[in-house]
Amino acid sequence: SGLHQKTIKKIRSKAQLAAARVTDRHVRLAVTGLSGAGKTAFITSLVNQLLEANHGADLPFFSPARQGRLVGAQRVSQPDLQLARFEYEQGMSALNQDCPQWPAPTRGVSQIRINIRYQHAQRFRRLFADTSTLVLDIIDYPGEWLLDLPLLGMGFDSWSAFCEQQLQQPERQHLATDFVAQLKQTDWLAAADEMQLKGLADAYRSYLHQCKRAGLELIQPGRFVLPGELEGAPILQFVPVPETLRKQGDKGVPEGSNLAVVIERFRQYKEKVIKPFYHNYFKQFDRQIILVDCLSALNRGEQSFQELQEAINWLLKSFDYGNNSLVRRLFSSRIDKLVFAASKADHITPDQQDNLIRLLESMVHSARQDITYRGSKIQTTALAAIRASQVGKTEYQGNMLSVLRGRDLDGKPIMLYPGDVPSCCPRKEFWQSQQFSFPAFAPPKRDAMSALPHIRMDQLLEFLLSDKVQ
Ligand code: GDP
Repeated sequence: SGLHQKTIKKIRSKAQLAAARVTDRHVRLAVTGLSGAGKTAFITSLVNQLLEANHGADLPFFSPARQGRLVGAQRVSQPDLQLARFEYEQGMSALNQDCPQWPAPTRGVSQIRINIRYQHAQRFRRLFADTSTLVLDIIDYPGEWLLDLPLLGMGFDSWSAFCEQQLQQPERQHLATDFVAQLKQTDWLAAADEMQLKGLADAYRSYLHQCKRAGLELIQPGRFVLPGELEGAPILQFVPVPETLRKQGDKGVPEGSNLAVVIERFRQYKEKVIKPFYHNYFKQFDRQIILVDCLSALNRGEQSFQELQEAINWLLKSFDYGNNSLVRRLFSSRIDKLVFAASKADHITPDQQDNLIRLLESMVHSARQDITYRGSKIQTTALAAIRASQVGKTEYQGNMLSVLRGRDLDGKPIMLYPGDVPSCCPRKEFWQSQQFSFPAFAPPKRDAMSALPHIRMDQLLEFLLSDKVQ
């Protein structure tokens, strides 16, 4: 009867609504890496691949795209209005110029939300809803901020001792002369002098920036090189005060003295800057990708490479869910998939790609042994967010050799063989005969309407998202 039909219709539409609610999904994907690792290029490309999935993006390994189940993706307004917006459009217009430019890098936390409409893979789910939506939030934050985690386990004196050890390393010593001279001149027991402390903090920051430029990645505190919204705030105006650099007799800590003020600011930095980052953001991430620029470190040499290894060890501490870890004591994370990706893989020839993956694996593995990742799946890969080179062959001393063609940053065509990538942490001989070197490429010239060329972005999408688009 008509009534019966109506009831069935009503029940069906209710069921559809409920099913839609159940099947609509939400993923918070966090992207990090030390500055220059390629986060901005990566997010720009990821968004581009999703938006262009049905318009020529090359995604054979992303199953929902291959199966033709992606209906469309759309950028929508982001949920956290206090966060910066990830500037996708600006990035694309830089890449679309006649002389394409790399997108300007982001400096703090930024966010972008994409709605991905898709058809279900299983027929029975299609009965309830024609399409569902995956809400994807991508959050970008500086990897340097993760280097601060170990600070939470240190007091001011042990942190100062750690910094002193760094200041004495030969490759840092000459960068630190100005800062160390100022440290020595300061009367730490005298009444606090704001301007003097600010001057010291500026000298310390300039030393850290120089370290960064020299490829020395172990920077503490992380906000000193990437302050985000804290630029200029007194909470960043403290410095380590190694005991041997305090003047003779600086034993106790008189109230209101220079020393008392820096100790208090160090404490506040931990409470008001580091911890809130973990509580307010980190805790919410579902999935995480860490970009690692192994190739630039190889390019720069042994010290830079070792620091990158050390930085990975530190970064990994934020994902250690073992019983005694700081992370466990601070919050419970729910990251279930963690990807380490060697970025800019278009800087090497295809025959070297496996080595690059193995190299990164060995770096992560040497750090990982004593770390417990409760329930997280970890993958190591190598990718190019935006492929800026073409592979070609050339004859060299009677042999055919793979080479790369691209353009340098001034737009001049170049052809090169960048060298062999070691498949594990290189030995002394490698550094002595340093044969690995490459220049930076300009982004590829392309038709502005076409999707960005890449290497393995589709495999990454498959690992990170395909289970949520079923
Ligand atoms: P971020 O500081 O982590 O956001 O790093 P960016 O995304 O700004 O990347 C830093 C630089 O690395 C860029 O300006 C490019 O020169 C280079 N780069 C990043 N991704 C790629 C890539 O996929 N291929 C190539 N060839 N270069 C890249």
